[in-house]
Amino acid sequence: MNLYDSLHRELRRFEPGTPGPVTVYGCGPTVYDYAHIGNFRTFVVYDLLHRHLRRRGHEVEFVVNFTDVDDKTIGGAAAAARPLAAHTGPFIEAFLEDAETLGLLPVSRHPRATEFIPAMTEFVAHLIDAGHAYRAGDGSVYYSVATFDGYGKLSGKGGEDDSRRSRIDAGEFAKADPRDFALWKAAQPADREVGAVWDSPWGEGRPGWHLECSVMVKSLLGETIDIHVGGEDLLFPHHENEIAQSEAATGCAFARFWMHVKHLKVDDRKMSKSLGNFHTVRELVDDGHDPAAIRWVLLSAHYRSELNFTAGGLSDATEAVQRLLDFRRRIRDGGAGDPARAEPVAAGVGASARPGTGGQATAGARSGAAGELAARARQHLDAFERAMDQDLNVPRALASLWGLVRDGNAALDSPGGVRRGDCEAVLAALGEMDLALGVLDLAAKARDVDDDTERRIREMVEARDRARKARDFATADRLRADLEAQGVRLEDTPAGTRWKRVRPTGS
Ligand code: AMP
Ligand code: ZN
Repeated sequence: MNLYDSLHRELRRFEPGTPGPVTVYGCGPTVYDYAHIGNFRTFVVYDLLHRHLRRRGHEVEFVVNFTDVDDKTIGGAAAAARPLAAHTGPFIEAFLEDAETLGLLPVSRHPRATEFIPAMTEFVAHLIDAGHAYRAGDGSVYYSVATFDGYGKLSGKGGEDDSRRSRIDAGEFAKADPRDFALWKAAQPADREVGAVWDSPWGEGRPGWHLECSVMVKSLLGETIDIHVGGEDLLFPHHENEIAQSEAATGCAFARFWMHVKHLKVDDRKMSKSLGNFHTVRELVDDGHDPAAIRWVLLSAHYRSELNFTAGGLSDATEAVQRLLDFRRRIRDGGAGDPARAEPVAAGVGASARPGTGGQATAGARSGAAGELAARARQHLDAFERAMDQDLNVPRALASLWGLVRDGNAALDSPGGVRRGDCEAVLAALGEMDLALGVLDLAAKARDVDDDTERRIREMVEARDRARKARDFATADRLRADLEAQGVRLEDTPAGTRWKRVRPTGS
């Protein structure tokens, strides 16, 4: 599989660096508030990567941290007049709930930065000893950028020219070079107020944000990891600083691959509370949106391409998810209502002749040769896998998914119907694709229907269709009302009757 590596700025073939699990670290949420859907674009991409690596046969050690001590979390806790952990704890819980809502696979570990303070002070002490960091008069410790030759190699920023050009921030008078950044910050009154202070050889204080990630990576995954991933905004200075700290401390390459996810825009603008386009997952779900449709929007563009979140896009996604569910249901039923279903014929040998078809050969002539649809399903799946192997090219993978749907529907619509073996091959391909995308099972879960209920609903929908064709509108209306009372709303579309889950009438 190939991944675009932001450090080498090219597509590179991915192989794990060492035997054993593939090690991946993704910068996680800063838990001072609910994560928004922009954050979740990035986290859904982590999930696509996680799923794809696993489907490619790798064991994966995937770590996503919680930034539970930094300026924002301290500011949030102070504003709410709560201790730091009391402020961040509920947002950690909320993140885990939202992640589950969007069908993110559980990762191996979700370390909190505050669990690693002793390892952080040790790391800083080591950098001071090695001459890469210095103590400032106020009790803070800074990283000395000039001591690390590779500074700027990820972002192309922060070289010596920048040092000459930039001025030292008034608040950071203690820095020797404007590019230097804090590894350890001396305690401020707000930090004390919320209990964000720890002992260190340099006095009370708290870790710098960049340091937190370097130390969690080293503590949990080792000196060199396979893949480091984050949103594009983190490339500089956060990831540049992580490299500088880690490589100066260990003498080893920090991450073999760097991946950066482009930011999500909302209605073509940056998401912000003041623009009123700031959405959280829970708000969208409370407004009645299908979590699977939200997930679909977030994964549908390539992760290095622009993605604009709009109401129209969400409604298209809702329709796409419904079409997929309908297709799966139809193919599962082996083409309910189609002649093939009356007496399903196993693909291959031993198939019995169906009445009126003149046997297998004639049936084959009507709906394509036995196994032809199965072969096409495999081709679509192969193309899907190749697309995912090419730097997680989801748009191309989705084209294969729709190709499978198109071929499956065409076969189901053909007069000869589809053989059971072919249906199973299509279902298997669809199931594999969904393991990569994580949408269909999530959609089914949100609709809260088990297979038996789904079949029963489908039968009632078909009975209503038959009643309508026979112009027995009283029966058709009664069936519609019965379904509505059970929380199933019907929509008659040119493509047939669709149904969706709603609140049962009278509840
Ligand atoms: P934060 O909670 O701000 O630390 O961000 C958590 C993750 O979400 C980081 O990887 C960010 O780069 C990413 N992120 C923040 N805003 C957006 C956005 N609008 N679109 C995509 N990712 C984002
Ligand atoms: Zn980080």
